[in-house]
Amino acid sequence: MKNIAVLGSTGSIGKNTLEVVRNLNRNSFPVSVKYISANSNSELLAAQIEEFKPEAAVIFDPESFNRLKNRSLNHKCEILCGQAGINEIARRDDFELVVNALVGFSGLIPTIEAIKNGKDIALANKESLVVAGELIYSMLAASNSHLLPVDSEHSAILQCVQGEPLKKITKLILTASGGPFRELPAGDMINVTVADALNHPNWKMGNKITIDSATLMNKGFEIIEAKWLFSIEAENIEVLIHPQSIIHSMVEFSDGSVKAQLGVPDMKVPIQYAITYPGRIESDFPRIDFKSLKKLTFEEPDLEKFECLKLAYDVINSGGSYPIVLNGANEAAVDLFLNGKIKFTDIPALIKSAMDKHQNHTKPTLESIVEIDSWSRKYVKETALQEV
Ligand code: NDP
Ligand code: MG
Repeated sequence: MKNIAVLGSTGSIGKNTLEVVRNLNRNSFPVSVKYISANSNSELLAAQIEEFKPEAAVIFDPESFNRLKNRSLNHKCEILCGQAGINEIARRDDFELVVNALVGFSGLIPTIEAIKNGKDIALANKESLVVAGELIYSMLAASNSHLLPVDSEHSAILQCVQGEPLKKITKLILTASGGPFRELPAGDMINVTVADALNHPNWKMGNKITIDSATLMNKGFEIIEAKWLFSIEAENIEVLIHPQSIIHSMVEFSDGSVKAQLGVPDMKVPIQYAITYPGRIESDFPRIDFKSLKKLTFEEPDLEKFECLKLAYDVINSGGSYPIVLNGANEAAVDLFLNGKIKFTDIPALIKSAMDKHQNHTKPTLESIVEIDSWSRKYVKETALQEV
Protein backbone atom coordinates (compact mmCIF):
# COMPACT_ATOMS: atom_id res chain seq x y z
CA MET A 1 0.00 0.00 0.00
CA LYS A 2 1.34 3.44 -0.93
CA ASN A 3 0.11 6.23 1.35
CA ILE A 4 0.04 9.70 -0.16
CA ALA A 5 -0.93 13.33 0.46
CA VAL A 6 -2.28 15.35 -2.48
CA LEU A 7 -1.73 19.08 -1.97
CA GLY A 8 -3.90 21.10 -4.35
CA SER A 9 -6.26 18.17 -4.87
CA THR A 10 -8.98 20.42 -6.35
CA GLY A 11 -6.79 21.75 -9.20
CA SER A 12 -6.05 20.38 -12.63
CA ILE A 13 -3.07 18.23 -11.52
CA GLY A 14 -4.79 17.38 -8.23
CA LYS A 15 -7.91 16.03 -9.97
CA ASN A 16 -5.77 14.09 -12.46
CA THR A 17 -3.82 12.65 -9.52
CA LEU A 18 -7.03 11.35 -7.94
CA GLU A 19 -8.00 9.86 -11.31
CA VAL A 20 -4.60 8.11 -11.33
CA VAL A 21 -5.28 6.82 -7.79
CA ARG A 22 -8.60 5.36 -9.02
CA ASN A 23 -6.71 3.67 -11.88
CA LEU A 24 -3.97 2.30 -9.60
CA ASN A 25 -6.50 0.89 -7.14
CA ARG A 26 -8.21 -0.91 -10.05
CA ASN A 27 -4.85 -2.34 -11.16
CA SER A 28 -3.46 -4.01 -8.03
CA PHE A 29 -1.34 -1.05 -6.92
CA PRO A 30 -3.22 0.05 -3.80
CA VAL A 31 -2.91 3.74 -2.95
CA SER A 32 -4.47 5.39 0.09
CA VAL A 33 -5.01 9.16 0.02
CA LYS A 34 -4.31 10.21 3.62
CA TYR A 35 -4.40 14.00 3.17
CA ILE A 36 -5.81 16.44 0.64
CA SER A 37 -5.81 20.25 0.40
CA ALA A 38 -7.40 23.18 -1.42
CA ASN A 39 -7.32 26.94 -1.33
CA SER A 40 -11.07 27.69 -1.27
CA ASN A 41 -13.01 25.06 -3.23
CA SER A 42 -14.80 23.54 -0.24
CA GLU A 43 -17.49 21.90 -2.43
CA LEU A 44 -15.06 19.75 -4.36
CA LEU A 45 -12.89 19.10 -1.30
CA ALA A 46 -16.00 17.79 0.50
CA ALA A 47 -16.77 15.42 -2.39
CA GLN A 48 -13.15 14.22 -2.36
CA ILE A 49 -13.34 13.63 1.42
CA GLU A 50 -16.41 11.41 0.93
CA GLU A 51 -14.77 9.40 -1.86
CA PHE A 52 -11.16 9.06 -0.64
CA LYS A 53 -11.77 9.10 3.13
CA PRO A 54 -8.56 10.93 4.15
CA GLU A 55 -7.37 11.37 7.75
CA ALA A 56 -7.44 15.16 7.32
CA ALA A 57 -8.12 17.86 4.76
CA VAL A 58 -6.44 21.27 4.78
CA ILE A 59 -8.11 24.37 3.38
CA PHE A 60 -6.30 27.71 3.16
CA ASP A 61 -9.03 30.32 2.89
CA PRO A 62 -10.47 30.98 6.40
CA GLU A 63 -14.10 31.47 5.20
CA SER A 64 -13.99 28.25 3.18
CA PHE A 65 -12.49 26.52 6.22
CA ASN A 66 -15.50 27.56 8.32
CA ARG A 67 -17.88 26.46 5.57
CA LEU A 68 -16.25 23.03 5.36
CA LYS A 69 -16.05 22.63 9.12
CA ASN A 70 -19.78 23.33 9.50
CA ARG A 71 -20.75 20.92 6.78
CA SER A 72 -22.07 17.53 7.73
CA LEU A 73 -19.98 14.83 6.08
CA ASN A 74 -20.47 11.07 6.19
CA HIS A 75 -16.73 10.55 6.47
CA LYS A 76 -15.50 12.28 9.61
CA CYS A 77 -12.00 13.66 9.12
CA GLU A 78 -10.02 16.50 10.64
CA ILE A 79 -10.41 19.82 8.87
CA LEU A 80 -7.31 21.97 9.22
CA CYS A 81 -6.62 25.52 8.09
CA GLY A 82 -3.75 27.17 6.18
CA GLN A 83 -0.01 26.74 6.35
CA ALA A 84 -0.21 25.53 9.95
CA GLY A 85 -2.42 22.70 8.70
CA ILE A 86 0.14 21.71 6.04
CA ASN A 87 2.97 21.83 8.58
CA GLU A 88 0.91 19.69 10.93
CA ILE A 89 0.23 16.94 8.37
CA ALA A 90 3.82 17.01 7.03
CA ARG A 91 4.98 15.83 10.48
CA ARG A 92 2.72 12.76 10.48
CA ASP A 93 4.31 9.43 9.77
CA ASP A 94 1.39 7.61 8.10
CA PHE A 95 2.34 8.52 4.51
CA GLU A 96 5.46 8.40 2.34
CA LEU A 97 4.77 10.59 -0.69
CA VAL A 98 3.46 14.12 -1.19
CA VAL A 99 2.06 15.10 -4.58
CA ASN A 100 2.70 18.84 -4.64
CA ALA A 101 0.10 20.15 -7.09
CA LEU A 102 -0.09 23.64 -5.59
CA VAL A 103 0.28 26.56 -7.95
CA GLY A 104 2.99 29.23 -7.78
CA PHE A 105 4.95 30.36 -4.73
CA SER A 106 2.33 28.80 -2.43
CA GLY A 107 3.98 25.43 -3.20
CA LEU A 108 7.40 26.32 -1.80
CA ILE A 109 6.93 25.97 1.97
CA PRO A 110 5.06 22.65 1.56
CA THR A 111 8.01 21.33 -0.53
CA ILE A 112 10.44 22.41 2.21
CA GLU A 113 8.24 20.91 4.97
CA ALA A 114 8.01 17.61 3.07
CA ILE A 115 11.82 17.41 2.77
CA LYS A 116 12.30 18.29 6.45
CA ASN A 117 10.05 15.36 7.31
CA GLY A 118 11.74 12.88 4.95
CA LYS A 119 8.80 12.50 2.54
CA ASP A 120 9.24 11.77 -1.16
CA ILE A 121 7.75 14.45 -3.39
CA ALA A 122 6.02 14.05 -6.74
CA LEU A 123 6.58 17.64 -7.79
CA ALA A 124 4.22 19.40 -10.17
CA ASN A 125 4.94 22.74 -8.48
CA LYS A 126 7.91 23.74 -10.64
CA GLU A 127 7.91 27.20 -9.04
CA SER A 128 9.49 25.60 -5.91
CA LEU A 129 12.59 24.75 -7.94
CA VAL A 130 12.60 28.08 -9.79
CA VAL A 131 12.73 30.14 -6.59
CA ALA A 132 14.68 27.80 -4.32
CA GLY A 133 16.47 25.14 -6.41
CA GLU A 134 19.77 25.57 -4.61
CA LEU A 135 18.23 25.50 -1.12
CA ILE A 136 16.02 22.50 -1.96
CA TYR A 137 18.93 20.49 -3.36
CA SER A 138 21.13 21.26 -0.35
CA MET A 139 18.29 20.09 1.92
CA LEU A 140 17.71 16.96 -0.18
CA ALA A 141 21.39 16.02 0.09
CA ALA A 142 20.97 15.84 3.87
CA SER A 143 17.61 14.01 3.89
CA ASN A 144 15.94 10.75 2.84
CA SER A 145 13.51 12.52 0.49
CA HIS A 146 13.50 12.12 -3.27
CA LEU A 147 12.06 14.51 -5.84
CA LEU A 148 10.15 12.95 -8.72
CA PRO A 149 9.05 15.21 -11.55
CA VAL A 150 5.41 15.38 -12.59
CA ASP A 151 5.96 17.92 -15.36
CA SER A 152 5.59 15.95 -18.62
CA GLU A 153 8.93 17.12 -20.08
CA HIS A 154 10.89 16.20 -16.97
CA SER A 155 9.06 12.90 -16.61
CA ALA A 156 10.01 12.20 -20.24
CA ILE A 157 13.67 12.92 -19.43
CA LEU A 158 13.55 10.75 -16.30
CA GLN A 159 12.14 7.91 -18.41
CA CYS A 160 14.85 8.41 -21.08
CA VAL A 161 17.74 8.36 -18.59
CA GLN A 162 16.76 5.13 -16.84
CA GLY A 163 19.84 2.87 -16.85
CA GLU A 164 22.06 5.65 -18.23
CA PRO A 165 24.82 7.37 -16.25
CA LEU A 166 23.97 11.09 -15.91
CA LYS A 167 27.53 12.02 -16.94
CA LYS A 168 26.92 10.56 -20.41
CA ILE A 169 24.13 13.08 -21.10
CA THR A 170 25.30 15.80 -23.49
CA LYS A 171 22.03 17.62 -24.05
CA LEU A 172 18.44 17.76 -22.84
CA ILE A 173 15.92 18.82 -25.48
CA LEU A 174 12.79 20.25 -23.87
CA THR A 175 9.88 20.33 -26.27
CA ALA A 176 7.24 23.07 -26.16
CA SER A 177 3.96 23.26 -28.04
CA GLY A 178 4.55 26.97 -28.69
CA GLY A 179 1.14 27.81 -27.17
CA PRO A 180 -1.76 29.57 -28.88
CA PHE A 181 0.34 32.45 -30.34
CA ARG A 182 3.02 30.45 -32.13
CA GLU A 183 1.87 31.72 -35.51
CA LEU A 184 0.60 35.14 -34.44
CA PRO A 185 2.63 38.03 -35.89
CA ALA A 186 4.72 39.69 -33.15
CA GLY A 187 2.95 43.02 -33.70
CA ASP A 188 -0.44 41.47 -32.83
CA MET A 189 0.65 40.19 -29.40
CA ILE A 190 -0.44 43.49 -27.82
CA ASN A 191 -4.10 42.79 -28.70
CA VAL A 192 -4.25 39.30 -27.21
CA THR A 193 -7.28 38.85 -24.89
CA VAL A 194 -7.55 36.73 -21.74
CA ALA A 195 -9.84 34.29 -23.61
CA ASP A 196 -7.29 33.97 -26.47
CA ALA A 197 -4.47 33.33 -24.00
CA LEU A 198 -6.49 30.72 -22.08
CA ASN A 199 -7.18 28.78 -25.27
CA HIS A 200 -4.23 26.39 -25.24
CA PRO A 201 -4.10 24.17 -28.34
CA ASN A 202 -3.06 20.86 -26.68
CA TRP A 203 -3.31 20.91 -22.88
CA LYS A 204 -6.16 21.62 -20.43
CA MET A 205 -4.52 23.13 -17.32
CA GLY A 206 -5.06 25.67 -14.53
CA ASN A 207 -5.24 29.35 -15.58
CA LYS A 208 -1.83 30.43 -14.31
CA ILE A 209 0.19 27.77 -16.15
CA THR A 210 -1.97 28.27 -19.24
CA ILE A 211 -0.91 31.93 -19.38
CA ASP A 212 2.70 30.90 -18.66
CA SER A 213 2.44 28.54 -21.63
CA ALA A 214 1.13 31.34 -23.86
CA THR A 215 4.05 33.64 -22.93
CA LEU A 216 6.53 30.68 -22.96
CA MET A 217 7.54 31.64 -19.40
CA ASN A 218 6.52 28.09 -18.55
CA LYS A 219 9.34 26.79 -20.77
CA GLY A 220 11.77 29.20 -19.12
CA PHE A 221 10.74 27.81 -15.72
CA GLU A 222 11.16 24.29 -17.08
CA ILE A 223 14.79 24.97 -18.10
CA ILE A 224 15.51 26.00 -14.49
CA GLU A 225 13.57 22.97 -13.23
CA ALA A 226 15.57 20.61 -15.51
CA LYS A 227 18.86 22.17 -14.47
CA TRP A 228 18.20 21.25 -10.83
CA LEU A 229 16.50 17.89 -11.38
CA PHE A 230 19.20 16.48 -13.66
CA SER A 231 22.25 18.52 -12.47
CA ILE A 232 22.92 19.81 -15.94
CA GLU A 233 24.16 23.23 -17.02
CA ALA A 234 21.47 25.37 -18.62
CA GLU A 235 23.66 25.84 -21.73
CA ASN A 236 23.15 22.11 -22.39
CA ILE A 237 19.35 22.41 -22.29
CA GLU A 238 17.73 23.26 -25.61
CA VAL A 239 14.13 24.34 -26.15
CA LEU A 240 12.49 23.06 -29.31
CA ILE A 241 9.01 24.02 -30.48
CA HIS A 242 7.04 20.88 -31.34
CA PRO A 243 3.43 21.94 -31.93
CA GLN A 244 1.91 18.44 -31.80
CA SER A 245 3.05 17.77 -28.17
CA ILE A 246 3.63 14.08 -28.92
CA ILE A 247 7.35 13.96 -28.09
CA HIS A 248 7.45 15.14 -24.48
CA SER A 249 11.24 15.69 -24.43
CA MET A 250 14.50 14.09 -25.56
CA VAL A 251 17.97 13.31 -24.23
CA GLU A 252 21.13 13.30 -26.33
CA PHE A 253 24.01 11.10 -25.11
CA SER A 254 27.77 11.34 -25.60
CA ASP A 255 27.79 8.79 -28.45
CA GLY A 256 25.31 10.93 -30.44
CA SER A 257 22.31 8.71 -29.70
CA VAL A 258 19.03 10.46 -28.81
CA LYS A 259 16.20 8.96 -26.75
CA ALA A 260 12.69 10.44 -26.75
CA GLN A 261 9.54 9.71 -24.75
CA LEU A 262 6.23 9.94 -26.62
CA GLY A 263 2.58 9.89 -25.67
CA VAL A 264 -0.67 11.73 -26.20
CA PRO A 265 -0.81 14.97 -24.17
CA ASP A 266 -2.29 13.59 -20.94
CA MET A 267 -0.87 14.49 -17.51
CA LYS A 268 -2.13 11.23 -15.99
CA VAL A 269 0.82 9.35 -17.51
CA PRO A 270 3.62 11.43 -15.89
CA ILE A 271 1.66 11.68 -12.61
CA GLN A 272 1.27 7.91 -12.46
CA TYR A 273 4.97 7.38 -13.30
CA ALA A 274 5.96 9.67 -10.41
CA ILE A 275 3.76 7.68 -8.01
CA THR A 276 4.82 4.20 -9.19
CA TYR A 277 8.47 5.02 -10.07
CA PRO A 278 10.52 3.07 -11.00
CA GLY A 279 7.69 0.64 -11.83
CA ARG A 280 5.04 0.93 -14.51
CA ILE A 281 1.43 0.00 -13.86
CA GLU A 282 -1.29 -0.79 -16.40
CA SER A 283 -3.71 1.92 -17.47
CA ASP A 284 -6.42 2.53 -20.01
CA PHE A 285 -5.25 6.12 -20.61
CA PRO A 286 -5.43 7.14 -24.31
CA ARG A 287 -2.77 5.70 -26.65
CA ILE A 288 -1.02 7.26 -29.66
CA ASP A 289 -2.45 6.12 -32.98
CA PHE A 290 0.70 6.52 -35.09
CA LYS A 291 -1.18 5.95 -38.35
CA SER A 292 -3.33 9.00 -37.74
CA LEU A 293 -0.36 11.25 -36.88
CA LYS A 294 0.23 13.19 -40.07
CA LYS A 295 3.51 14.80 -39.10
CA LEU A 296 5.75 15.72 -36.20
CA THR A 297 7.40 19.11 -36.75
CA PHE A 298 10.07 21.13 -34.96
CA GLU A 299 11.13 24.76 -34.98
CA GLU A 300 13.26 27.16 -32.98
CA PRO A 301 11.53 29.40 -30.42
CA ASP A 302 11.34 33.09 -31.32
CA LEU A 303 12.99 34.86 -28.37
CA GLU A 304 12.14 38.33 -29.64
CA LYS A 305 8.43 37.59 -29.81
CA PHE A 306 8.39 35.51 -26.60
CA GLU A 307 10.30 37.90 -24.36
CA CYS A 308 9.50 35.90 -21.21
CA LEU A 309 11.61 33.01 -22.46
CA LYS A 310 14.46 35.43 -23.15
CA LEU A 311 14.09 36.84 -19.60
CA ALA A 312 14.29 33.31 -18.18
CA TYR A 313 17.54 32.69 -20.11
CA ASP A 314 18.93 36.00 -18.72
CA VAL A 315 18.03 34.91 -15.18
CA ILE A 316 19.69 31.53 -15.57
CA ASN A 317 22.90 33.26 -16.56
CA SER A 318 22.82 35.75 -13.69
CA GLY A 319 21.58 33.19 -11.07
CA GLY A 320 21.41 34.16 -7.38
CA SER A 321 18.11 35.73 -6.42
CA TYR A 322 17.00 36.76 -9.95
CA PRO A 323 14.87 33.62 -10.44
CA ILE A 324 12.84 34.64 -7.36
CA VAL A 325 12.10 38.00 -8.97
CA LEU A 326 11.31 36.32 -12.29
CA ASN A 327 8.76 34.09 -10.56
CA GLY A 328 7.22 36.64 -8.17
CA ALA A 329 6.95 39.37 -10.81
CA ASN A 330 5.49 36.85 -13.26
CA GLU A 331 2.85 35.67 -10.78
CA ALA A 332 1.77 39.23 -10.03
CA ALA A 333 1.74 40.21 -13.72
CA VAL A 334 -0.21 37.10 -14.78
CA ASP A 335 -2.75 37.82 -12.05
CA LEU A 336 -3.16 41.42 -13.28
CA PHE A 337 -3.55 40.18 -16.87
CA LEU A 338 -6.16 37.58 -15.87
CA ASN A 339 -8.07 40.33 -14.05
CA GLY A 340 -8.08 42.57 -17.12
CA LYS A 341 -5.77 45.18 -15.57
CA ILE A 342 -2.83 44.97 -18.01
CA LYS A 343 -2.13 43.91 -21.60
CA PHE A 344 -0.52 40.59 -22.51
CA THR A 345 2.66 42.39 -23.61
CA ASP A 346 2.86 44.20 -20.24
CA ILE A 347 3.69 40.84 -18.60
CA PRO A 348 7.33 40.68 -19.83
CA ALA A 349 7.71 44.47 -19.56
CA LEU A 350 6.80 44.45 -15.85
CA ILE A 351 9.01 41.46 -15.11
CA LYS A 352 11.95 43.10 -16.85
CA SER A 353 11.38 46.31 -14.90
CA ALA A 354 11.41 44.37 -11.59
CA MET A 355 14.58 42.54 -12.60
CA ASP A 356 16.31 45.80 -13.53
CA LYS A 357 15.43 47.23 -10.12
CA HIS A 358 16.61 44.19 -8.14
CA GLN A 359 20.05 43.89 -6.49
CA ASN A 360 21.24 40.29 -6.76
CA HIS A 361 21.75 38.18 -3.60
CA THR A 362 23.91 35.05 -3.80
CA LYS A 363 22.70 31.92 -1.97
CA PRO A 364 19.41 33.36 -0.69
CA THR A 365 18.03 31.86 2.53
CA LEU A 366 14.38 30.84 2.90
CA GLU A 367 13.71 34.08 4.73
CA SER A 368 15.22 36.21 1.96
CA ILE A 369 13.41 34.17 -0.71
CA VAL A 370 10.09 35.03 0.98
CA GLU A 371 11.09 38.70 1.25
CA ILE A 372 12.25 39.01 -2.37
CA ASP A 373 9.09 37.28 -3.57
CA SER A 374 6.89 39.78 -1.70
CA TRP A 375 8.95 42.72 -2.93
CA SER A 376 8.64 41.55 -6.56
CA ARG A 377 4.86 41.22 -6.36
CA LYS A 378 4.45 44.57 -4.65
CA TYR A 379 6.76 46.25 -7.18
CA VAL A 380 4.80 44.85 -10.15
CA LYS A 381 1.40 45.82 -8.69
CA GLU A 382 2.51 49.36 -7.87
CA THR A 383 4.27 49.87 -11.20
CA ALA A 384 1.27 48.56 -13.14
CA LEU A 385 -1.10 50.90 -11.23
CA GLN A 386 1.13 53.92 -11.86
CA GLU A 387 1.15 53.17 -15.58
CA VAL A 388 -2.63 52.80 -15.92
P1 NDP B 1 -4.69 24.81 -10.60
O1 NDP B 1 -4.85 26.28 -10.52
O2 NDP B 1 -5.62 24.05 -11.46
O3 NDP B 1 -4.78 24.18 -9.12
C1 NDP B 1 -4.08 24.73 -8.04
C2 NDP B 1 -4.41 24.00 -6.76
O4 NDP B 1 -3.76 24.67 -5.67
C3 NDP B 1 -5.90 24.01 -6.39
O5 NDP B 1 -6.17 22.89 -5.60
C4 NDP B 1 -6.03 25.30 -5.57
O6 NDP B 1 -7.15 25.28 -4.68
C5 NDP B 1 -4.73 25.27 -4.78
N1 NDP B 1 -4.23 26.61 -4.46
C6 NDP B 1 -4.18 27.69 -5.29
N2 NDP B 1 -3.64 28.75 -4.67
C7 NDP B 1 -3.35 28.36 -3.42
C8 NDP B 1 -2.81 29.01 -2.27
N3 NDP B 1 -2.43 30.30 -2.30
N4 NDP B 1 -2.64 28.29 -1.14
C9 NDP B 1 -2.99 26.99 -1.11
N5 NDP B 1 -3.55 26.31 -2.13
C10 NDP B 1 -3.70 26.99 -3.27
O7 NDP B 1 -3.17 24.54 -11.02
P2 NDP B 1 -2.59 23.34 -11.89
O8 NDP B 1 -3.08 22.04 -11.37
O9 NDP B 1 -2.73 23.64 -13.34
O10 NDP B 1 -1.03 23.49 -11.59
C11 NDP B 1 -0.46 23.09 -10.37
C12 NDP B 1 1.06 23.07 -10.52
O11 NDP B 1 1.41 22.07 -11.46
C13 NDP B 1 1.64 24.38 -11.03
O12 NDP B 1 2.89 24.61 -10.44
C14 NDP B 1 1.84 24.11 -12.53
O13 NDP B 1 2.91 24.87 -13.08
C15 NDP B 1 2.20 22.63 -12.51
N6 NDP B 1 1.90 21.90 -13.74
C16 NDP B 1 0.61 21.83 -14.17
C17 NDP B 1 0.29 21.14 -15.33
C18 NDP B 1 -1.14 20.99 -15.77
O14 NDP B 1 -1.40 20.23 -16.70
N7 NDP B 1 -2.10 21.64 -15.15
C19 NDP B 1 1.34 20.52 -16.15
C20 NDP B 1 2.66 20.61 -15.58
C21 NDP B 1 2.91 21.29 -14.41
P3 NDP B 1 -8.63 25.80 -5.17
O15 NDP B 1 -9.11 24.80 -6.17
O16 NDP B 1 -9.42 25.83 -3.92
O17 NDP B 1 -8.40 27.16 -5.78
MG1 MG C 1 5.56 20.98 -18.80
